[in-house]
Amino acid sequence: MSSIDNEGMLISSKVELRRFPAIEQGDLRSVRALVVHQTDAPTAQHTFNSYRNKGNGAHFLIEKDGAIYQTASMKKRCYHVGRLLRSKCEAVDKSTCDAAQMKVIESLTWKLQFRALDRYERTKNYPERYPMNADSLGIELVGKHLDETHYEKVTAMQNQSLQWLVAELYGHFSLTSKDVYTHPQISYKHLGEAGSAVWQ
Ligand SMILES: [Zn+2]
Repeated sequence: MSSIDNEGMLISSKVELRRFPAIEQGDLRSVRALVVHQTDAPTAQHTFNSYRNKGNGAHFLIEKDGAIYQTASMKKRCYHVGRLLRSKCEAVDKSTCDAAQMKVIESLTWKLQFRALDRYERTKNYPERYPMNADSLGIELVGKHLDETHYEKVTAMQNQSLQWLVAELYGHFSLTSKDVYTHPQISYKHLGEAGSAVWQ
């Protein structure tokens, strides 16, 4: 069993703490969901190097051999979800979308639709919409982006560590497996990112 210290770090013999303040972007007030990513880098070290500079990042990083690093405090927000959210009602069950709103949005040009959908989604509360940077933790798995629809396969050791990590986080934040998403599910990203991750 793990614990979380005052700094928002997960204390366990299974987690190595490597905090990078440069990727922390203000306070994260609530954790409602977990978002699984792949780094598009060959090793954890490549990601550590990029985390020395201010920019995008996530809270955890799992190396191909299953080693788990915590790279940001769980009390701090990281930029790991893209700027434009996808519509959850549209993906899950379109009949649950507000028909009048959707009609207005669909009358826009293709490009404007993405922005309008994002704006509309942000008026909702989780879980009616997908998670955002402001209410989720990001978990990166080391793995290269191969082509339009594929990333390297998540290793068995990574999936084993991911399962342990999400189980601990379910307990700490009262989440279930329904609160875990892959990056391309929730925002416009290369398909296939974290596609072979298994967490249940
Ligand atoms: Zn991602």
